[in-house]
Amino acid sequence: MLIILDRDGVINRYHGEYICSVEEWLPIASSIEAIARLTRAGHQVAVATNQSGIARGFYDHLILNAMHAQLERLVESLGGRVDCIVYCPHHPDEDCRCRKPRTGLLEDIRDRLGLSDLHDAIMVGDSRKDLEAGLSAGCKAAALVRTGNGRRTEKELQTAPLGQVTVWRNLAAFVDDLLDEDDDGPSVTR
Ligand SMILES: [Mg+2]
Ligand SMILES: [Zn+2]
Repeated sequence: MLIILDRDGVINRYHGEYICSVEEWLPIASSIEAIARLTRAGHQVAVATNQSGIARGFYDHLILNAMHAQLERLVESLGGRVDCIVYCPHHPDEDCRCRKPRTGLLEDIRDRLGLSDLHDAIMVGDSRKDLEAGLSAGCKAAALVRTGNGRRTEKELQTAPLGQVTVWRNLAAFVDDLLDEDDDGPSVTR
């Protein structure tokens, strides 16, 4: 299976401010471990992240790539792998094809991994736009984590529901359940 992750608030801490340097990019330790566990179990992991801070001039592609190299190093140090990282560098006003909730980033992941569709993919995010992008792009499920923006998003979804979305304490809890299903078949309770 392919698991597509939002970055800020899912993989690393996020409190609403732009993350402008490698020093400010603070991984959630259990998320790094969860990514490694997923790929060690044979799943693929991709990251799709909106980074309008580039268009706003807060940081550049080199700095962003350094953050992502750090992410890859941490996951690889645990025997895992990140298969693909894509980002949207545009300002919301640019009306690009890739900024979530649009589906361009997810289509790029599909193409880079040589898939014909995303029917065996799950999108995991902490914001409504992540879940919308995943469902619009044809992912079979969308999962909300309560880290980062997630608690606020969970409240929003109560007033304006969005298809089939499961809710998890964090990425590690989502992965625990997914890998448990791999072993035992579908779980009866959540
Ligand atoms: Mg996020
Ligand atoms: Zn874009």
